[in-house]
Amino acid sequence: MAPSHINSSAADIVAIKSDARLLHHIAIVSLIAGLIVMSVNTYWGFWYRPGGPGLVLIAVTMLIMLKRGLIISTASFFCWSVLVMVVISSLASQGLENVAWVAGPIAVLVSGWLTGQRGAIAVTLGSIISIFAMYQLQMSGFKPDKFIPLEIIMAVLMVANLIAAFIGIATATTFRHQMSLIHNARQQLNAIFNSTHDMIWSVDPNTFALTSFNHSFAQCMATHNNITVELGMTVEAIFITPERSAEWQQFYTRALTDKHHQVTYQDLKPNSYLAIGFNVMEHDGKAFGISVFAKDITEKKKAQLQIEYLAFHDALTGLANRRLGMDCLQHALAMATTTQLNVALLFVDIDQFKHVNDKYGHAAGDSILKQLAQRLCYIMGDHATVCRQSGNEFMIILPNLAATDELPTRCENILNSLRTPFEINSTSVAIACFIGASVFPRDATTSESLIQKSHTALTIAKQSTSNSYQLFEQQMLDRLLQKITMRDALITALERHEFVLHYQPQIDLASGRVTGAEALIRWQSPEQGLLGPIAFISIAEEYGLINQIGRWVLIEACQQAVRWIDAGYDGLIMAVNLSALQFQQGQIIADVNDALTLSGLMPHYLELELTESILLEHDEFLIDAIQQWRAQGIHLSIDDFGTGYSSMAYLKRLKVDKLKIDRFFVQDLEKDSENRAIVQAMLHIAEGFNLTTIAEGIETELVNQTLKEMGCKEGQGYLFAKPLSPKAFEDWLKTR
Ligand code: C2E
Ligand code: MG
Ligand code: MG
Repeated sequence: MAPSHINSSAADIVAIKSDARLLHHIAIVSLIAGLIVMSVNTYWGFWYRPGGPGLVLIAVTMLIMLKRGLIISTASFFCWSVLVMVVISSLASQGLENVAWVAGPIAVLVSGWLTGQRGAIAVTLGSIISIFAMYQLQMSGFKPDKFIPLEIIMAVLMVANLIAAFIGIATATTFRHQMSLIHNARQQLNAIFNSTHDMIWSVDPNTFALTSFNHSFAQCMATHNNITVELGMTVEAIFITPERSAEWQQFYTRALTDKHHQVTYQDLKPNSYLAIGFNVMEHDGKAFGISVFAKDITEKKKAQLQIEYLAFHDALTGLANRRLGMDCLQHALAMATTTQLNVALLFVDIDQFKHVNDKYGHAAGDSILKQLAQRLCYIMGDHATVCRQSGNEFMIILPNLAATDELPTRCENILNSLRTPFEINSTSVAIACFIGASVFPRDATTSESLIQKSHTALTIAKQSTSNSYQLFEQQMLDRLLQKITMRDALITALERHEFVLHYQPQIDLASGRVTGAEALIRWQSPEQGLLGPIAFISIAEEYGLINQIGRWVLIEACQQAVRWIDAGYDGLIMAVNLSALQFQQGQIIADVNDALTLSGLMPHYLELELTESILLEHDEFLIDAIQQWRAQGIHLSIDDFGTGYSSMAYLKRLKVDKLKIDRFFVQDLEKDSENRAIVQAMLHIAEGFNLTTIAEGIETELVNQTLKEMGCKEGQGYLFAKPLSPKAFEDWLKTR
């Protein structure tokens, strides 16, 4: 394999160009000198001599050489021809014709070898012709002219030709050096040309036949096209199929006009290449070749595809990500608009997934997500699109749903498939999921609104039992919006200090003495007036605002208790209601301590009201808290006793001071024998556990009397006072 054209380095080219220019000048001067000598000879009669035809042949040879651009070789040839003529004629005149016959060609050949291949051929040819001419000259009995003696002509010719000979040798040596430089540069480029993994080849600009190529090109063609490339091969022969060769012909044509024509092609599958075509111009602007550089960009393409894949897929599960999911949803909705079919959008959420991660580690969590993704894909089949929306939330698009009534079954199927525990390192891990679903066009007509509706349904599902699903209903959204509005209003209320506490007195039934007060929260809403806790406590609990509100209540109630003690109403115990949610973050112990520290209230003036749900749900933590509070001297009561689980077990385990009998059993106590029986039972239980009792909701004197007779210790209710503002409470106290 041989590359056809190779460029030497820029410095070499500059050197060669300047050398060549100098040699040209010298050669032209030498040529002109030779021509003058020849003209003089011709003028003096050479032409009419028998040697004339030989000189004509020399002149014709020189013209041919000149036409071929071999100026230096022509000059060299001329000088040598004349010199050889002189030497041979001298030798011949001395009777040494045979020596002349041998010496002439040898001298010519040596000079030819020195001036390079082409020069050698030309000079050899010329010399043979000149020897023939000399022979003719000699045979014809050449005599000196009458004006210029032969000796003078000979002497001039000798000097001129000696100069020419030296120039010729110098020229040849310089060229030999330059050629070796070019050769070295060519070798270097050859090495680079063939060592690169990129394909390089050149074609003729007219025929597009192969004029050079490197190893990579040959190898690639052998592997992919199963051909052995050779110089001169046509496009059709290399690029086999008519389509491919047409494409490449088009590429070469473009490369002739565009400076850098560039294409990416993949016809050598599975590899991809980037080909850049250059037209190689001569200084006159005519293209003498098209070179192509083709780079294997398979890896780059793969990386690009990988990046594109990751942009649209979830790296862990391989499912479509949110972005692709949105595209699929929009596409499904567009299709459904034409087909008049339904599209169901489902959100699947794993309940308490954080706990799975905390308990089994993140690797296990990842494994569950992967397995879950596989199960979802399996159960939904080919027609649905399953996407991973976020950490533990998946989105399922069910297009072409003819009837929406099949949706409950589909949801049930999903939940059932996820009920089977997941295997993690031979440990079975069970998880619970929720599904929220809505349907296009029944519930929403745009993708955004469909997503919102499915999310609303999911939120509602999450409020239900685990492993449940919820289909969207409009009333559901209305309720949710109301709640969200209320939540935002509560946040503002906290910032603007719109909450106030009212206090309801608690009475010792036997003596009528005021034993304490229960702090009950109210919201002084600028829009809706004074609102009771029923209107907002549950929302504050749902949206996590209860901790902040509860903390404020504790501090405010303790500070009010201190104010009353300072005002002389000593001995009043301040009862504060606690929510079950306040125990969830474990902040309650610190909040109670902060309230006591900030207010300076002695702990035995504080009573904390716990509901039965608190006692049931927060076992370990509650035991610690109760122990700590009892040790501090804080009173503890069980609020709304009888309305919850009323477990005797917790009464035994958790040591409290007081049972608050719920208003539900107290009202109509005098008439309702069942309520009387229940209250009586509660009073017995309290007595058994050595607890004090307080009855809530005493509205009539009759109920009051009945409770007293039944042995209830304390009471609170409208009979004594409604919940009052601090000022009203003080005024009320003064009346007693
Ligand atoms: P609760 O702790 O059982 O409070 C007693 C409720 O019964 C109060 O309602 C009170 O106004 C009402 N009540 C008292 N005597 C009578 C009566 O003779 N007749 C009638 N019909 N009702 C009477 P309120 O203030 O609306 O509070 C309702 C519930 O809100 C409370 O029940 C308590 O569970 C909760 N709550 C109030 N304040 C707070 C608070 O600061 N934090 C927490 N977590 N919950 C609170
Ligand atoms: Mg209470
Ligand atoms: Mg109560």
